[in-house]
Amino acid sequence: MNRILVTGGAGFVGANLCKRLLEDENNYIICVDNFYTGRKSNIEGLMKSDRFEFIEHNIIEPLDIDCNEIYNLACPASPPHYQKSPTYTTKTCVYGVINMLDLATKNDAKIMQFSTSEVYGDPFVHPQEESYRGNVNPIGIRSCYDEGKRVGETLCFDYNREFGTKIKVIRIFNTYGPLMDPKDGRVVSNVVLQALKNDDITIYGDGTQTRSFCYVDDLVEGIIRMMSSRDDFLGPVNLGNPGEFTIKELVDIVVDITGSKSKIVYMPLPSDDPLQRKPDISLAKKELNGWEPKVPLSEGIKLAIDYFKEFV
Ligand code: NAD
Ligand code: UDP
Repeated sequence: MNRILVTGGAGFVGANLCKRLLEDENNYIICVDNFYTGRKSNIEGLMKSDRFEFIEHNIIEPLDIDCNEIYNLACPASPPHYQKSPTYTTKTCVYGVINMLDLATKNDAKIMQFSTSEVYGDPFVHPQEESYRGNVNPIGIRSCYDEGKRVGETLCFDYNREFGTKIKVIRIFNTYGPLMDPKDGRVVSNVVLQALKNDDITIYGDGTQTRSFCYVDDLVEGIIRMMSSRDDFLGPVNLGNPGEFTIKELVDIVVDITGSKSKIVYMPLPSDDPLQRKPDISLAKKELNGWEPKVPLSEGIKLAIDYFKEFV
């Protein structure tokens, strides 16, 4: 049996990943989460399997279990959630990653660190390729997460160089889809729910800032391929959909599909909000057997809308 630890497994990406990993009968999943932003309902169905175990634990504290693979997702990812207690976020990104790297080293397990396009900050290089070192404000309201994730990458590479720890580092770009928390606060969940309820749709800034949105199944496929990539490919590798949209374009797509009567309200742009974001995925394509996203935004948004309907 492949004993796989998934931290943050009750969250949006984590629960989708656990679901996919359970499809392989050789896998035994140990999901660790403290429900900081995750939800019991995301894993209730998975708990019925005798190859799925749940441990309630905060990774800021050490953990000792037998495993041969670790996916380290535990960390709030939505700006309102990671900014609620910034020191908690940084501790999760530093102490939490150290604890998981110690566990991987002790077990001689392979560990994948879930990093982010936020390591590029408000980028001067467009699209962002992995060699770009980023433009991050070290003292702003996003820094607890951005700098936390940057040091998370540093720790992975230092554990690899100093102790030979087997690491894989992925940089995820904005992802959306089923199992997102409706109260998550990110743009897709906010806009879809506002549209479905005919509430005002909130655009921060003038809506010309861009993001590249990846449907969660495409991301999970990339994650699985990365874990089984050749041993000496450590990353970091971008995983995201290169289709780039302004926030206003995203809103127009959602309004068009839902037929919503919502009106748009413009609110102040939060500080350090990146103006553009688009992954260069050439490295992922080359190293992960031609991986690339298959679900265009117009299709993925329909699936997300179907999912969010149950919360209206
Ligand atoms: P999420 O908030 O839905 O999930 C995070 C999970 O981690 C939650 O279940 C939460 O309860 C858990 N958690 C938080 N702190 C913890 C701690 N100290 N100990 C144990 N569990 C803890 O977020 P998500 O969108 O699923 O993101 C998952 C990972 O992917 C995060 O590391 C995030 O930084 C990364 N990521 C996500 C995106 C995206 O668009 N979804 C983009 C870039 C990076
Ligand atoms: N945003 C918005 N309205 C919302 C929520 C977010 O216009 O209700 C904007 C936000 O300012 C940012 C973009 O949408 O420019 C993506 O925000 P999100 O929080 O989803 O992700 P991130 O900023 O971390 O990429």
